[in-house]
Amino acid sequence: MDVHDALRAICTTGEGYCWYCDQKLPGAEEAISTGWDVKRIEGERVASIILICPECNRLKAELGEEGLLRNLSESMTRITC
Ligand SMILES: [Zn+2]
Repeated sequence: MDVHDALRAICTTGEGYCWYCDQKLPGAEEAISTGWDVKRIEGERVASIILICPECNRLKAELGEEGLLRNLSESMTRITC
C-alpha cells in the first residue's frame, strides 16, 4: 500500500483522525509533508486502515506502542480531571 495515495484518499473523505490521539488529518499535502503515517491492521474479519499523526509516530518510536497508549491515557486523565 502506498502511504501517500492512502493519505490522499482518506483526505477526500474528510474523516481522517489519528488512531491514538484523535487529531484531525490535515490536507493531503500537509499530511504527507509533516509525516502522517498509514497502517493496515488485519482484523479477524476485515482489515482496517489506521492513521498515525507525526507526534504519535514519534512517541511510538520512542516509547513503543504500550508506552504511547499509557502516555495517552495519562494525558486524557489530566484533561478530564
Ligand atoms: Zn496522534
